Amino acid sequence: LSNDTCVDYKARIRTIPDYPAQGIMFRDVTTLMSDAEAFAAAIEDLCRPYEAAGIAKVAGIDARGFILGGAMAVRLGAGFLPLRKPGKLPYETWSESYELEYGSDALHMHVDGVSEGEKTVLVDDLIATGGTAEAGVKLLRRGGADIVAAVFLVDLPDLRGANRIRKLGIEVRSLIAFE
Ligand code: AMP
Repeated sequence: LSNDTCVDYKARIRTIPDYPAQGIMFRDVTTLMSDAEAFAAAIEDLCRPYEAAGIAKVAGIDARGFILGGAMAVRLGAGFLPLRKPGKLPYETWSESYELEYGSDALHMHVDGVSEGEKTVLVDDLIATGGTAEAGVKLLRRGGADIVAAVFLVDLPDLRGANRIRKLGIEVRSLIAFE
């Protein structure tokens, strides 16, 4: 975990019990994002290790990963690449499906979204089982991206998603964890 700016991120994330289903503790990051100081600090903390890494693309996962990823891309001098739910991207896409608790979903990426060898950071608000992030990794690798790291505001370590992504050979960083 890394939090160099000493902002209490946890205190700024709202928890909604039993949303969207019974037994889920939903970590609502909109309250952190609406706090100007905390949002700016989070973008700084997420970007800091990669400032001098020559990042070409920040790939954000639909939809809260877009909010973080757009700000990170500007901060890192990189382009932004959206990884989207089905039916949203207008040009030719590749897709990767992943399992949910009930059923499955998929992420799509424009086929020209990354170029071979481009250094890329993947971002989402939260990693739980890691299924969504793994789909993002597969899409980026299909495009030939060099994935430097996958970064998140929140890790739910009990669900072992970060380990799952590390097993793919990718550095994983989160600002906070909820046990
Ligand atoms: P997973 O694929 O299991 O790692 O789930 C991660 C995705 O689902 C992210 O896009 C999160 O925004 C969302 N998500 C999963 N669990 C939660 C939770 N407890 N609170 C908020 N978002 C969640």
